[in-house]
Amino acid sequence: MVRIQSLLVLALIATALGYKRYEGYKVLQVKPENEDQVHALVKMNQVLGFEVDFWRDARAVGRNCDFMIPPEKESLVMDFLAYFGITPKVVVNDVSVMIDRSMKEQQEKPKIDWKAVKADPNQFPLDQYHTHDDINAWLQSVAATYSSFVTISSLGKTLQGRDMLFLKIGTPKPNKNALWIDAGIHAREWVADATALYTISQLVNGYSTKFKTLLDAIDIIIAPSVNPDGYEYSRLSDRNWRKTRSGPRQGCYGVDPNRNWSFHWGESGVSTSPCSDIYDGPSPFTEKNCQNMKAYLDANNNTIKGMLTLHSYGEDWIYPWGYKTHTYPPDVNDLRALGLQAAAAIQAVHGTKYVVANSADSLYPAAGASDDYSKSIGIKWVYTVELRPGDGDTANDHQYGFNLPAKFIIPTAEETFPGLMVVANRIMTGPN
Ligand SMILES: [Zn+2]
Repeated sequence: MVRIQSLLVLALIATALGYKRYEGYKVLQVKPENEDQVHALVKMNQVLGFEVDFWRDARAVGRNCDFMIPPEKESLVMDFLAYFGITPKVVVNDVSVMIDRSMKEQQEKPKIDWKAVKADPNQFPLDQYHTHDDINAWLQSVAATYSSFVTISSLGKTLQGRDMLFLKIGTPKPNKNALWIDAGIHAREWVADATALYTISQLVNGYSTKFKTLLDAIDIIIAPSVNPDGYEYSRLSDRNWRKTRSGPRQGCYGVDPNRNWSFHWGESGVSTSPCSDIYDGPSPFTEKNCQNMKAYLDANNNTIKGMLTLHSYGEDWIYPWGYKTHTYPPDVNDLRALGLQAAAAIQAVHGTKYVVANSADSLYPAAGASDDYSKSIGIKWVYTVELRPGDGDTANDHQYGFNLPAKFIIPTAEETFPGLMVVANRIMTGPN
């Protein structure tokens, strides 16, 4: 009874704050058994004439695909699936319950004592999701504490004026090669940002010991939250927000910042509707956060040898090209081989099995993503990493989608870290 009351109170608070409720929304999971079914899922939005929110895109035969449906569209979607012989499994019966739980977790987390954290950034709780301001304040404290080998800079400001801070971690020397890691380009994929923060903490704490050789040789650049306008919107207004916050265009906000890059922009896997979650924008690089990232990558593409972009979810280690199926860069064998090493390193930690695959072949082609752009400007080791949850771990956490409870942050980050270091070590040893 107490629990019901507290949930009711939360629901009232959420409504009062204007937080999008998703009452009665379900998440369905389907596993296509043939190419026709995959194709039907990919075309579902177009055929039905409304936007089903895909949490995990339709991909190859035998791979799970998750999507959220509003209650009023449920029978229409069920009929569509039945027509193609697809049997769905309900993985989330009511998304609002999940969101209430996530809000409760946010409200109950202990407040940060910034005085202590400023003196010792290791006091910062890495097993929680944080506000943009707290993330930036922590980055400042890390840079101040470890100033002999950490520098802090900004990629620039977002549309709403948020600072896109990043750290460069490594012994100061001229002309070093570097690994770039970004996270959170999709707003709702919170565990990606959290994993980037954990990665920073591991590197700065291990600098003088296990990572000395690595960080003497290369720099690791980490931009832990590269769509902060969207991130804050997903924290404060709509947990399922994916895009930026530009607009409105036709009454809708945001562009998918991972469809807004110029390489083969708009050719596949996008929507031209500003109300779609995969809207590619009116033209390439309309989004300020993408412009800021592009400027840095362009200016440093001689030294940046690896680009890892952290997303959730699915447990996939993905290499280019993504814009077209069966289309690969000339060094695809290198990319695949190193990807398999990274996946093995991940699996060695908690047993989580990642799928290593080409972006367009394993997902569906989607043009205008940051990985393809980075590869196109000459960066060698480029991967999109889809973190937990997924089908490859034994934690039985797949039902959470983007709302992965905070208790899974550390296991996720712990297993991801050695995968990232496989790429870092490869850049150190070369050739790149
Ligand atoms: Zn994503």
